[in-house]
Amino acid sequence: MIKIDKEVDVIIVGCGPAGSWCAKRLAEYGVNVIVLDRNEEIGTPVRCGEGFSKTIEERLNLKLPSFCIAQKIDGAFIYAPNGKFVEVKGFGYVLERKMFDKWLAIEASNAGAKILAKSYVYDLIKEKGKIAGIKANIVGEDMEIKGKIIVGADGVESMIAKKAGINTTCSPFLVDSGFEYELANIKLRDEKKLEIFLGNEVAPRGYVWIFPKGKNRANVGVGIVGSNEKGARYYLDKFIASREELRKGSIIEVKGGAIPVGGFLRDMVKENVLLVGDAAHQVNPIHGGGIGEAMTASEIAAKVIKKALDKNDSKVLKEYNTLWYKSRGNTLKKIEKLREIVEKLSDDQLNKLAEALEGEDIYDITHGNYLKLVKTLLKLGFKLAGF
Ligand SMILES: Cc1cc2nc3c(=O)[nH]c(=O)nc-3n(C[C@H](O)[C@H](O)[C@H](O)COP(=O)(O)OP(=O)(O)OC[C@H]3O[C@@H](n4cnc5c(N)ncnc54)[C@H](O)[C@@H]3O)c2cc1C
Repeated sequence: MIKIDKEVDVIIVGCGPAGSWCAKRLAEYGVNVIVLDRNEEIGTPVRCGEGFSKTIEERLNLKLPSFCIAQKIDGAFIYAPNGKFVEVKGFGYVLERKMFDKWLAIEASNAGAKILAKSYVYDLIKEKGKIAGIKANIVGEDMEIKGKIIVGADGVESMIAKKAGINTTCSPFLVDSGFEYELANIKLRDEKKLEIFLGNEVAPRGYVWIFPKGKNRANVGVGIVGSNEKGARYYLDKFIASREELRKGSIIEVKGGAIPVGGFLRDMVKENVLLVGDAAHQVNPIHGGGIGEAMTASEIAAKVIKKALDKNDSKVLKEYNTLWYKSRGNTLKKIEKLREIVEKLSDDQLNKLAEALEGEDIYDITHGNYLKLVKTLLKLGFKLAGF
């Protein structure tokens, strides 16, 4: 067996994009960090549409290797319920997330972090009322590891949050349910474009997506409000059945999961425990993209953790709340408000919105500047409190 330190500076639970990126940054700062993930293989199973914007690549100064990219993207077709569409310019990728997550973990490992797959964390160690480490089953063996700081990067159902007493409960209305097939041998309109289908019949409070992964392969999925009685699969199957170019395809992979599309936590820190990524609901509430948000938050978290270690004072960790809200949280909260408005639009209103945006350059909207969308909605006579 490899060497595993029984006492480290930082323990990260979860080796998704949040956990890996936080570990990589911490290791680069010279921090002794260990990351545990319950999955046998980092990156598998995938629960994602795998869309990734170039803006994030630039923001994080990533150099994506070609094996992480299934398809380069240069825009999107956004369809209104009546079938009319708006074409949007915008660059990015559909990732091969299995490879991407693995690559991030290898990058973190190369920087000096210890990564452990098939390592399920089932409890926290408490000493004199303080959290002092984790209890885990590491490749079949029960072990205890002590750490000064614990990071919960363990996804939307964060067990670390619950065990540490960080309240992450939110209304089921703020958690979308996603279901997706990776289909092969299908016909795509344009393999360089994402396709987004809106409408209350197609996807109540959500959308259907076709994210190409090559010439005749794509992730075809749906995200809808989690409280919907029929469930995401019902809407996806209905959509596929209605499309000749899709229903002839083969299912290569089935993916799905919950997407926290709001309900940002006011406090993501409890003593020496801190949450990042989906565990802290750090997802774009309008399109559900969370990879970039998870990694951005991890950059901030890593800086604050380093400072807390240097000062030997876990109270410093609270700065993460302020810094994240300043950098991303306040913007995401605005986007959440906007989503609340858009999700109430009837199909007829969505058609009108698509018509009003026809021929407009809506690159900005798809890249987080929602001002143009707000202005168009106002022009159409919608009441937008808070804008
Ligand atoms: C259907 C669907 C489609 C999506 N599409 C997109 C998209 O196109 N683009 C985009 O940017 N985002 C998308 N997202 C969101 C994106 O997948 C997440 O936001 C992102 O994965 C968050 O990263 P994370 O590291 O916080 O969490 P995760 O990627 O969920 O990683 C958490 C890790 O923690 C591990 N773990 C959990 N509990 C334990 C434990 N007790 N012990 C050890 N390990 C544990 C898990 O095994 C997992 O590997 C989608 C989500 C869904 C469900």
